[in-house]
Amino acid sequence: MPVDQIAIGVDIGGGSTKIGLVSSAGAILDRARIVASKTDDADQIVRTYANAIKRLMARNPSAVPIGIGIGFPGAIHPGNMSGTFANVPALDDTPLAERIGAVFSLPARMENDGTAAGIAEAMFGKERDSPRQLLVTAGTGIGVAFTVDGKPFVTSYGCLGNAGHVIVDPKGAERCRQGCLGCLESVASADALNAMAAGFVRTNPNSAIALHSVGLGKKADASDIIFCARHGDGAAVSMLTEAGRWIGRATATWAHIFAPSIILLGGGLSAAGDLLLKPIEQEARRCGLALYLDHARFALASLGNDAGMIGAAAQIFLNSRP
Ligand SMILES: [Zn+2]
Repeated sequence: MPVDQIAIGVDIGGGSTKIGLVSSAGAILDRARIVASKTDDADQIVRTYANAIKRLMARNPSAVPIGIGIGFPGAIHPGNMSGTFANVPALDDTPLAERIGAVFSLPARMENDGTAAGIAEAMFGKERDSPRQLLVTAGTGIGVAFTVDGKPFVTSYGCLGNAGHVIVDPKGAERCRQGCLGCLESVASADALNAMAAGFVRTNPNSAIALHSVGLGKKADASDIIFCARHGDGAAVSMLTEAGRWIGRATATWAHIFAPSIILLGGGLSAAGDLLLKPIEQEARRCGLALYLDHARFALASLGNDAGMIGAAAQIFLNSRP
């Protein structure tokens, strides 16, 4: 039996960064979570990451990594070594992969975090046998990754462009965070559902959504919609259905371009399960061409929050394949 290889996966987040020792079978052998201060400069951030990796390696002396993969929450520059990340300007254009790799004399690579999640689902997820995977990550924003036999297809900046900003609403009056009008993110992301929840509780202060958020001592948001929908609240179910229909229309468009064998739903909103997935599937099949949709299955992504870290490491295995 071939011995598993080991790589280090670094999943950089807005708040914290996850670092894991990941095997080529997709198992997480050990992990750590670190917080780099937003005021740190690039040298300090590289040191913080490198020290955390050193501690992880010291705890696991028999696990010898063959490389370090980084999942980066921003635009990746050509060459996959640096990127631009609005949340931590110090990391802009820093050759992060090169510098961390140099500390350990190991090959290092960097992918966009959504693309990394797509690689992880394609290589190790429940649906890994499906060859052409479209992963829709519905969270604060909406990301789309496409892989063929585990290899990511990218068009720009390490991503499938900004596919979450496909324009779906001709009446769209609100600009999304990035500035377009009527895009999918502006009507169906967690941000959009947060706004939907806030507007709804203003006029429905005794609704299940309002009472649930008050019980938790916070403003109503997408998590209250998901909780109440899962407990059968009609208004909450309707909101998820509406968001799902928007995503379904966009999914039909993506399917026409990429001809996926499976469409996976991941990200924070996927906690809604079938309450979001079913309207996505129904609307995509209703609007789209049977030629493309009849060959595509719909399923929930299976690796959850670990997808980014596993996929960050997996890019090393992918690039070490003969
Ligand atoms: Zn947009």
